[in-house]
Amino acid sequence: MKNSLYIAKISGIKIFIHWSFFLLIAWIVISSIRDGNDFLQTILSVAFILTIFCCVVLHELGHALTAKKFNYITKDIILLPIGGMARINELPENPKQEFLIAVAGPIVNIVIALILFPFINWAQINPASLEKFVISGSNFIFSLFAVNLSLAVFNLIPAFPMDGGRVFRAVLSIWMNRVSATAVAARTGQFISFIFLIFGILYNPVLALIGVFIFITAKAENDEVKSKYFLHNYTVNDAMSHHYYKLDKTATIKEAAKLLIDVDPSDFLIVDNEKIVGTLSSDEIIKALVEKGEGVKVEEAMNSKVKFITKDIALDEVMKVLTDGKEKIMPVMDNNNVIGTVDMNNILKLIMVSSASQKHSASKVEEEILQS
Ligand SMILES: [Zn+2]
Repeated sequence: MKNSLYIAKISGIKIFIHWSFFLLIAWIVISSIRDGNDFLQTILSVAFILTIFCCVVLHELGHALTAKKFNYITKDIILLPIGGMARINELPENPKQEFLIAVAGPIVNIVIALILFPFINWAQINPASLEKFVISGSNFIFSLFAVNLSLAVFNLIPAFPMDGGRVFRAVLSIWMNRVSATAVAARTGQFISFIFLIFGILYNPVLALIGVFIFITAKAENDEVKSKYFLHNYTVNDAMSHHYYKLDKTATIKEAAKLLIDVDPSDFLIVDNEKIVGTLSSDEIIKALVEKGEGVKVEEAMNSKVKFITKDIALDEVMKVLTDGKEKIMPVMDNNNVIGTVDMNNILKLIMVSSASQKHSASKVEEEILQS
């Protein structure tokens, strides 16, 4: 993790703290001194923030360890001044699993609040010091209790990117498919973001910022799920190109670069006695030109781990492999013969063409309704 300090490893999950977190600590120390608080008071404020962040780590571990139960790997947990984030490699689409993983975080905070509850000394809580957010020995546990409850409530707001957005979508999935469930959850999230925005403008600019953030994230989540399911309806056959070029592995990068300009193939397949031994994309040609020079053989610049596919595979599966990064070009095979290639460009073109035709037919339907 760039810009982050590694602090611990729990159940195989690395925990990092972002450098900006130390700015927050510095800010607390400076403002505590500026407010005329003594040394003990300042230490108490810092200890309070650190304890809250331990609760945030436990919240994120709630997600990560539940995900682990369903065999989803968490890359790491990173702590930022605005909160924590468990980076899970791939989120489940099974509604029950999504529900349990999302709800596990807020449940951890509720459990912490319940554990703290018997230890609160209600008689010693001074409302005046609470109002000024001054942490003292007598209200430390109460404040921690209140923060954990707020964390649970805030995270359960039914809007992406909060846990509540995922919980809400998972519950909606009982009655509808994932695309519709995401659309309803995203729209609800955007409605909530407007409430945040209005209250934020009136009372607190931070709320307004959260509102804008929720609005953008809701749209992004909706777009992502929509485009993914859009591709599910298409196969490799719909996107593949026959415009590839076979090049012998002993050819030089200079020859490949020349063909790139002259013939403009979409992809190169590198062969050794007609057997495909690698793929070469225009990016890889440019990279090799910069790093190794034009005399280098294409076999030194190609991707030799070729993933062959057939034309009936669903495109969302292909997209998954392409976005993971290693494969840029996939040869399409039929009875041991190459019949075409698929790369990211082919898929993007298909999305462009298909969504344009869909828009046209949608506007035609609208026209007919208006005319009738
Ligand atoms: Zn969470």
